[in-house]
Amino acid sequence: MPSRETSCPSKPSRVVIKLGTGVLTTGIGQLNMQRIAAICSQVAQLRAQGVEVIIVSSGAVGLGMGALKLPKKPREVCKKQACAAIGQSRLMQIWQEGFNAHGITVAQVLLTHDDLRVRARYLGVKETLKQLIAYDTVPVINENDTVSAAEIKFGDNDTLSAMVSSLVEASHLFIISTAPGLIDMKGTGEIVPVVERITPEIEAMAGGTTSETAVGGMISKISAAKVATKAGCGVFIASGTEENIVPRLLAGKAPGTFFVPSGLKMEAKKRWLAHFQRPHAVLSVDANAVRALLEQGRSLLAVGVTGYEGRFDAGEVVNIAGPDGTTVARGKVSYASEEIPALAGLKSDAMAKLYPQRKRLEVVHRNDLVLV
Ligand code: GLU
Repeated sequence: MPSRETSCPSKPSRVVIKLGTGVLTTGIGQLNMQRIAAICSQVAQLRAQGVEVIIVSSGAVGLGMGALKLPKKPREVCKKQACAAIGQSRLMQIWQEGFNAHGITVAQVLLTHDDLRVRARYLGVKETLKQLIAYDTVPVINENDTVSAAEIKFGDNDTLSAMVSSLVEASHLFIISTAPGLIDMKGTGEIVPVVERITPEIEAMAGGTTSETAVGGMISKISAAKVATKAGCGVFIASGTEENIVPRLLAGKAPGTFFVPSGLKMEAKKRWLAHFQRPHAVLSVDANAVRALLEQGRSLLAVGVTGYEGRFDAGEVVNIAGPDGTTVARGKVSYASEEIPALAGLKSDAMAKLYPQRKRLEVVHRNDLVLV
């Protein structure tokens, strides 16, 4: 049993609790009703203290597998998607039954990555979640596995929970699974109680996942913690097998790892640019432009552009890479890829001549740009 405890973080106001399949089920497809009841009562405790709660719940695929009596997770995508369709309604039913004891209404929200990548949809989801909280419900979010094909997938609910935490500006994210926290395997062999900054050494402590139903493992939990902490959200990784885990973590009285929120919280639009996109296209820039972006916080001008890879339209989000191919920034580009050969390397006066009607001559304006 781990002995070290997490330190006490700041007061919670809005929290996201992410629950993995392993902690919600006993074996394949059997829900652990006691555990669900325990979590519902923890959520009720938090709400009684005025804390808003959003749940990100896995388990749809696992429950579908159970209903179909499949001993192993199928490899074919359509079979997994079918399992999710079967399991998701059961999952929601169980959550509602669990919360009935506390007079709490749940609300199902199923998302694909596109729902958060496309700005208008992202803003729509944000409004709806706000409204669900205003209606005093507990939103229960999952990936819309049944329709999300590879390109529009979050892939795992750790990533989804981090994006949701950033979206709703949660004060805390709890990633609750059967893992007791981040273990320092090479060093003490114990749980790391507090991580001030996610360094390569911290990332190296994470290993992959092995169980039949689990998806992400510690690697995806750490990268989720990275996204959420940059949104100013404190992140706990702890085990749901511990009694009353969430309130005890908040009181600094339970084992687990706490990731300190970044002091410099990125503004919402920059977070969306940095973490909600998976750009395929690349805009190549010269060394002077890299310096102007990294050291001076400037916009990207045509003079520094040297080329591009992949097609893009004006208004799309692209990666910006230096001469050695390393991505240094990400931003919303004001010109389409077809225009790049003509404008690459042009000074501002030449740009003004080429585009006499355009108000914005920056290729990527600094307000639409984030360093990565
Ligand atoms: N969305 C998947 C499910 O409900 C789980 C993904 C995950 O646990 O990361 O089964």
